[in-house]
Amino acid sequence: MSKKLNKLTVFEILSIVSGMQFGDQILIDPTPSDVPGLYREALISRASWYEIDLGAMRHNYRQLRAHLAPAVKIFACLKRNAYGCGAGPVARALAAEGADGFAVAALPDAIAIRRAGVETPILLYPGPLPASAETIEALHLTVTVSSIDELKQWRAVMGATRIFVKVDLGFHRAGATPKAVGEILAAAHAYDDVEIHGLYAHLSELPASSPAQESDQISRLERILQEADASGTRPPVAMMASTAGVLRWPAMDFDAVDPGALFVGLSETDQGVRSVMLRPALKAICASLVSIKQVDASLGPAPDLPGFRQGMTIGVLGMGWGDGIPRHLAAGTPALVRGQRARLIPPVHLEHLRIDLTEIPDARFGDQVLLLGRQGDKAITHDEVAACWDTDLIGLYAQLRDHVPRVYV
Ligand SMILES: *Cc1c(COP(=O)(O)O)cnc(C)c1O
Repeated sequence: MSKKLNKLTVFEILSIVSGMQFGDQILIDPTPSDVPGLYREALISRASWYEIDLGAMRHNYRQLRAHLAPAVKIFACLKRNAYGCGAGPVARALAAEGADGFAVAALPDAIAIRRAGVETPILLYPGPLPASAETIEALHLTVTVSSIDELKQWRAVMGATRIFVKVDLGFHRAGATPKAVGEILAAAHAYDDVEIHGLYAHLSELPASSPAQESDQISRLERILQEADASGTRPPVAMMASTAGVLRWPAMDFDAVDPGALFVGLSETDQGVRSVMLRPALKAICASLVSIKQVDASLGPAPDLPGFRQGMTIGVLGMGWGDGIPRHLAAGTPALVRGQRARLIPPVHLEHLRIDLTEIPDARFGDQVLLLGRQGDKAITHDEVAACWDTDLIGLYAQLRDHVPRVYV
């Protein structure tokens, strides 16, 4: 049972916020009476926060599960702190839905998942090194092996080594070549202290040099599995489908799938073979007005930048590029204050960002401002924010910062 955030002292909250584990401390399924407390504490600790909709993530999980044969496992990819949504709470929510395991690329994400009390298998994609063996063993993590050298180095520092062998089917990134993989499987089999839990690949996201690229990659994996079968070294789990693959290529299901973006609501493709109705995990980006003033001539001339003018009312939000807002924000990027749309005024500073409040005379110090989300009957959509931030939807999640508190709704 996690500690209820609304019972922590401000000192405790600040120490949590400055560390990585803020999300871990928040109650997962707050009863309605807890919610104001969570907001209050987020407000005390930081005056800005993200609202993460775990219900949407669970919904997205179920959308995927409904398309897969019951025997196909789901290893939810929660890299980069579950795409900024908090690896611990997200893992706990998806484990409750029945997720078979998780995959991450960095140890802190695996630590957050274990600290959240989740005991399902966790696969480490390439990233962690044998220097971290003690932590990896203590947390019962599975490492990736893409070469004989990697296998030997891991074995040298671990008691029992749990591995997934990674194969590169044409992405030209990490993973053994299809030609080399048989030798690695054979070497791993020869060691009593090595447990081969699976074999996986990541579909190439590079521009295709031939239209048959995806089916070629599936064929390469099928051939590898046939040869492994023939030599008695086929691992129990073969896996290659991330979000794009699992929605477009049912033949990629094999024994398990490891999508990530799908759970935060990004399908990457609208016309998948498998149709899903995904909901966004990021529900709101919230900041607060930390200063307001009416500009007058005693300040000298107004800066010669779009949005500035003499006599205007300027508000300042306690959020800036240090909190993930792009330094070069589009002029006219909207925000919601007191249920009305207002314009943010670039440039963005490390901790502060201006907003034009001239048309909202009742705005006050401390008011909540939404950079994304819904206030009354007004909304700022993900697409709108992504366009103003000059990125795409996954780019929006890439901008989320771990030190900004996440309130789970
Ligand atoms: C990132 C990653 C995934 C998940 O990709 P999405 O596009 O987010 O679904 C799956 N497998 C591997 C090996 C990855 O690196």
